[in-house]
Amino acid sequence: MTAQEELLQKYGNPDAPDYNQKHTVLWNPTDDGHAWWANVKVPIYENNQVSGYRPAGAFRVNVDFKVMLHNAFLALEAQNLQGEIETFDGCEVHRHVRNSLSESTHSWAGATDFNAVKNQQVHKPLNQITPADRQGQWSAPFIKCFTDQGITFGGNFIHVPDPMHFAMVDG
Ligand SMILES: [Zn+2]
Repeated sequence: MTAQEELLQKYGNPDAPDYNQKHTVLWNPTDDGHAWWANVKVPIYENNQVSGYRPAGAFRVNVDFKVMLHNAFLALEAQNLQGEIETFDGCEVHRHVRNSLSESTHSWAGATDFNAVKNQQVHKPLNQITPADRQGQWSAPFIKCFTDQGITFGGNFIHVPDPMHFAMVDG
């Protein structure tokens, strides 16, 4: 079963009018003790370039993914790694996966992107993709705080590693 099929089966169509009310919440991590979130910024784009920033604040997230993220954040704090997150680059985004008719995990608010500018998707022939490409700019312990919670790290995608991407399912 693909990630999209798994999410469809569990939560239904993310474009349904009652999806947000049933399966998502607006979450500001500072409300759950993650005070450092107040320093995380959202880039504002103009003509495909970052023209400024606003505070990340609250974002809409799938209720089950919120629990996973909360636990990953606690793990980051236990090792003082939370400072690696500089920008929040979107959780709930309705868009289609590149070259695919499936919706992205983001459509279910089940994935989040961090530090997108520094962790772009890797478009290279498979035999030229290095472990460093997959890791992006994160430390290895940082990534492990997420994967230990069952969160999929996009850097591990086989063909197009996406190291900005952390998701509740493998997709
Ligand atoms: Zn993503």
